[in-house]
Amino acid sequence: MNADVVVVGAGPVGLLLAAELRLAGVTPLVLDRLARPTSEPKARGIGPLAVEALRRRGLGEDLAKFHEQGLADKTRDHGSEKGHFAQIYKIDPDLQEEPERTGALIWQPDLERILAEHLASLGVPVLREHEVTALAQDDSGVTLTVRTPEGERRVHAAYVAGCDGGRSTVRKLAGFDFPGTAPTSVVRRLIGDISGMERLPAPGWQPAGMVMHAPGMVATVEHDGFPEDRDVPLTGEEMRDSVLRVTGVEVEVTAVRDTLRFTDVARQATTYRLGRVLLAGDAAHVHSPNGGQGLNLGLMDAVNLGWKLAATVTGRAPDGLLDTYTAERHPVGAAVLHNTRAQSALLRPGAHEAAMRDIVSDLLDLPEANRYFGRLLNGLGTRYDLPYPAAHPLAGRPCPDLRLTLPSGGTRTLAELAASGRPLLVHAPSQPETAQAAAAWRDALDVVEATIEDRDGLTAAFVRPDGTVAWASGPGPADTTTLTAALHAWLPLA
Ligand SMILES: Cc1cc2nc3c(=O)[nH]c(=O)nc-3n(C[C@H](O)[C@H](O)[C@H](O)COP(=O)(O)OP(=O)(O)OC[C@H]3O[C@@H](n4cnc5c(N)ncnc54)[C@H](O)[C@@H]3O)c2cc1C
Repeated sequence: MNADVVVVGAGPVGLLLAAELRLAGVTPLVLDRLARPTSEPKARGIGPLAVEALRRRGLGEDLAKFHEQGLADKTRDHGSEKGHFAQIYKIDPDLQEEPERTGALIWQPDLERILAEHLASLGVPVLREHEVTALAQDDSGVTLTVRTPEGERRVHAAYVAGCDGGRSTVRKLAGFDFPGTAPTSVVRRLIGDISGMERLPAPGWQPAGMVMHAPGMVATVEHDGFPEDRDVPLTGEEMRDSVLRVTGVEVEVTAVRDTLRFTDVARQATTYRLGRVLLAGDAAHVHSPNGGQGLNLGLMDAVNLGWKLAATVTGRAPDGLLDTYTAERHPVGAAVLHNTRAQSALLRPGAHEAAMRDIVSDLLDLPEANRYFGRLLNGLGTRYDLPYPAAHPLAGRPCPDLRLTLPSGGTRTLAELAASGRPLLVHAPSQPETAQAAAAWRDALDVVEATIEDRDGLTAAFVRPDGTVAWASGPGPADTTTLTAALHAWLPLA
């Protein structure tokens, strides 16, 4: 088999990356080792940047259908609709700088179904029961060995994207460095038939860790006793021993329906590209799920990489375009690892940590501090360094979903104009010089004359396919010199 790009892993990140590649003109081959998607619930939501990215591809209504149920589930499980830092549920959506830019509550399997349908609607199949077991790359491409029910196959590709999760085979086979910090805590959760639960203490901290329980479910958090082999699934015996260590109570597990075990190990690849192999999502970074950031981070990797990789494969990329993927996304991942480590430190048992948690909890009552912690988690503070001087405050930042009025009087949102995945230049009727400056890029860019209604000081914006504002202007004559530099940096000339 041959392909321009092979995407290894049909988790949320691989599915979205494959769809972005297809929109940008490349048909990838998508491989996953599993016969069917996993039903493991994992993430219960995505942040505002991923929501905006999916709305730009027409998936907003599908996401919205799950929000009400997600809110009910969250309130049931955590007693609050608010976000949390280190399990302190005080981050108030209404206090944030841009409260209209919100995340969506949707369980990960439902999100994966939406993304799989989106990819299928673009005509890209997923080859299941295809497990990558070996990888070799040279200047001309990458050869993968793939285990399938029909035997071993070889696949040759110009580029390979490893979206194969935290224990990424692609990352290991290609030789990426993956430094970081060892786990400080392990969470175990078992759903099944458990007797002796009535003798457990109330859910909460014990001297040796934390216990949580509800009918048919028991979970612990411990700060030692890490599993020797993380690939061995959690057993009833291991869960019983953990509950005993934390509470001193012996429960008996007679039937196991579902288990989950994860740690707060925090590691990040030093680069997201080695030659013709790229990493995205958990394959590039792992950290504790505290604050619910992993999925958002990975989906934004996918939208950043998709159009750049497609342009590289089809020979339309300006010099160095693919290397901006690591340059832009690595610092964002590093910031997430940083705040999840702080959350792990706050979540350790002990009088000193409890005192710190009390102080952070008090801080979260201050609106400015609430916004600070909100910004750490929601990604809205993301700002990429641009390779040209762009003075507007929105330049380098994720574009909000602007409301636009067209010269005909009709209205559109930016998301409605972005379904094709093409870059956009929106400009006010008073700034025709922007469209003139962009004339040489007309094949690569959609130019829309419209008035931006809902942002003071914004009259024109050049928005990349990943939703990043590459250049923006306020009223008055537009800075077309910088606009031209921006167009050169990101798009091929006609
Ligand atoms: C308990 C828990 C709760 C979480 N809660 C949140 C949350 O609330 N919010 C949030 O944003 N994130 C959360 N996360 C993190 C989130 O689940 C991950 O960041 C997300 O799954 C990453 O997606 P991915 O596509 O990168 O990897 P994965 O979802 O791991 O997908 C990888 C895919 O690659 C396939 N694969 C692996 N190896 C191979 C191979 N060799 N060949 C072919 N295919 C292969 C796998 O079968 C899988 O389908 C949570 C995680 C956990 C564990």
